[in-house]
Amino acid sequence: ANQKSKKERGAKGQEVSDAAKVNYYEEDLHKDALVWYREEGADDWKQYAFVSKSGADDCRLRDSGGGELTVPRSFVHTCNPSFLEGTSDLTNLTYLNEPSVLHNVRLRYERDEIYTRAGNVLVAVNPFKQLPIYTEEVARAYESGPSDQGPHIFEIAQRSYGELFETGKSQSVVISGESGSGKTENTKFVLRQLTQKSKRSTGKGVDKAILQTNPILEAFGNAKTLRNNNSSRFGKLINIYFDSPSQISGGNIYTYLLEKSRVVSVQKEERSYHVFYQLCKGCSEEDRRKYRLGRAEDYAYLNQSECFHISGTDDGKEFEDLKAAFQTFGLGVGMQDRIFKLLSGILHLGNVQFFEEETEGGQEARIAGPEPLAAAAELFGVDKSSLEKVLTGRVIRVGKEQMVKAMDVNQALNARDALAKHVYSALFEWLVKSMNAFIGKKKVEGRSYRDINLLDIYGFECFKVNSFEQLCINYANERLQQLFNRHLIELEQREYKKENLVWEHIPYSGNDHCLELLEGKKSGFIGIIADEINIPQASDSTLALKLKDQLACHSCFHNNAREPLRFSIAHYPGLVEYDVSQFLEKNKDTLSPDLVNLVSSNKDSLLWTLTQSSDRVRDLHVQNKSGRRQSTSVRQLSVAATFKGQLTSLIESLSETNVHYVRCIKPNSKQVSANFNSDLVLHQLKCCGVFEVVQMARSGYPTKFSYEDFSERYNFLVGSGGGAVGSTMDCKEVCKVILKQFNIDPSQYQFGSTRLFLRAGALGKVEELQKLY
Ligand code: ATP
Ligand code: MG
Repeated sequence: ANQKSKKERGAKGQEVSDAAKVNYYEEDLHKDALVWYREEGADDWKQYAFVSKSGADDCRLRDSGGGELTVPRSFVHTCNPSFLEGTSDLTNLTYLNEPSVLHNVRLRYERDEIYTRAGNVLVAVNPFKQLPIYTEEVARAYESGPSDQGPHIFEIAQRSYGELFETGKSQSVVISGESGSGKTENTKFVLRQLTQKSKRSTGKGVDKAILQTNPILEAFGNAKTLRNNNSSRFGKLINIYFDSPSQISGGNIYTYLLEKSRVVSVQKEERSYHVFYQLCKGCSEEDRRKYRLGRAEDYAYLNQSECFHISGTDDGKEFEDLKAAFQTFGLGVGMQDRIFKLLSGILHLGNVQFFEEETEGGQEARIAGPEPLAAAAELFGVDKSSLEKVLTGRVIRVGKEQMVKAMDVNQALNARDALAKHVYSALFEWLVKSMNAFIGKKKVEGRSYRDINLLDIYGFECFKVNSFEQLCINYANERLQQLFNRHLIELEQREYKKENLVWEHIPYSGNDHCLELLEGKKSGFIGIIADEINIPQASDSTLALKLKDQLACHSCFHNNAREPLRFSIAHYPGLVEYDVSQFLEKNKDTLSPDLVNLVSSNKDSLLWTLTQSSDRVRDLHVQNKSGRRQSTSVRQLSVAATFKGQLTSLIESLSETNVHYVRCIKPNSKQVSANFNSDLVLHQLKCCGVFEVVQMARSGYPTKFSYEDFSERYNFLVGSGGGAVGSTMDCKEVCKVILKQFNIDPSQYQFGSTRLFLRAGALGKVEELQKLY
């Protein structure tokens, strides 16, 4: 029975990934029509000429050399008429099959036209080279003109800005895509285009400051990964407030889920956060002595990956840019000194090693080599022996007595790393707060705000081994995808309604099912984690057992019976296997009260300021001061549940705005220019919902013409090809005559109040007929 249910779930999982596929609706092929066909084992589709049908399911094709072959009809897809090749909007395509959409995107990419519209969605392919399309001149052209300059990220900036003031409704630009696809670069272009306006007219400085948040956020939140030399390891929402069309009055930055583990563990060929290397490279000799700082190679937290440099990047120069950015926010030399001390302190802390000593009470950890400890203590501004104590022992209470319980080496290493991660993430949080205090604008109750939100959030991830971080990232993407589906289907519906079309509701396969698995009220994934971290004896194994037991019947949950800690989830782009190792630890994410006491012992240190601004730590701290120990009955919030809360409020605020979508595509995994990997691109186009947009367009009326354009284009076909009509008739009437004369089935078009709406494929028929003239 078990076997059977597994099979059924497998079949359902298949259904999920099939949902992204386009149902082909194509005309009967005529002789010599151009078609796409991909030979088995070939890495791309090629064009062939259709020769004839062959049997019930096959057909014969002719290749460019004149050779013929017989292939299954269902693998053959119609090419689009040549005048549509490289069209700037995918929904213009008569045939929306995979090879056609892909061909169009590739053709444009080869012409350095990296932006393509898919209806209201902007598809952006990363060129991995500098293109002359972001100049001041181009920016001004988009700023000034209603005329169509072609799809561009500036167009999105312009549109959101325009609609903000036309409708008074807040706008959002949601930029998504895989790691390395260009989200952060495109976000910066939107930001630049929006701040430009304000700068030209007022030059108040807020705009400059908003731009200067980038070097700081990137130094502290970006790192080299295998996929991207400048990968953002946090999600970010930038809020820009406008007082008047020409004036930005402030901004605000929210960040989501910084990848803390990177501070203490870095895999081969990756780096930790840029700022560490910048500091090691760019620091002056005098400061170097003060921070007892060596080279990046000297620190365990950095040298474990054996990767120190990024080709084409000058860490020393970036360090100068970072310091200049600090100045913008009033973080002067004195404050910078305190920040760099903490960073150096973290590096020294990572060099603290332990050895084990056999004692009466068992194995006890002792510090090996006093220098790193002394350096870390000095730079953090804490007492050396106190630091030693919290790294090797833990205060516990037995009845009314307080006593120190020694740690073994593993526990000591964990305590060391926990401290490093917390100091770093508290520093990150504090920097964001400081920048917000500078650019920020407080919301006043009752006053309406005009704002544009820019969301640069991690794209869907699926690695060989996926952990808690991937779960959160993929969960965020599920929520955004749900919003995307709703918005886009709604938008199209709204247009049909406005144009008074008679139209049947389009059903679509949403991802609500997977979201129910993740966050369902009764027994969702996140709820189970939240419960488990409050159970003292819980471990990753007990968590895995519970998940497998309680979620087994869910169709998006696939148990991996052979691996106790593994299971898969059917996400909208496909199946992802997760491993729950460390899930509990990563979810608890707490600093022991002893560590909190340690850092709060010196009220002059920056560390103390940081811990004051960190909510989670502050709660702990208050409890300590009042002498109460943290009671196990106080329910601890899991990281997953906190993230869920953040996501919910993010989605809520996005829903209240008019959302513009940018889908970034990575053309290859090598980070090089002029290299287009069809399978990789196709996969991304599917994942980010581009096919769903066009699929939806095809079940509706994707081809839209103004009556003027259509009659002008095809008028000559009417009246024995002479184009006799039109001079006295109005355009709409001419359209009616054209469509009637060519026997286009009335189900294939509708007359809207301002435009002609055609079904996918209808225009192709008119084009084919045109060839007969
Ligand atoms: P991650 O999710 O890892 O943060 P990302 O989607 O934010 O990735 P980016 O950092 O924006 O990716 O882009 C990766 C690199 O690709 C950039 O550092 C830059 O070299 C190049 N790149 C991206 N967009 C463009 C562009 N429009 N023009 C030129 N180069 C680009
Ligand atoms: Mg990024």
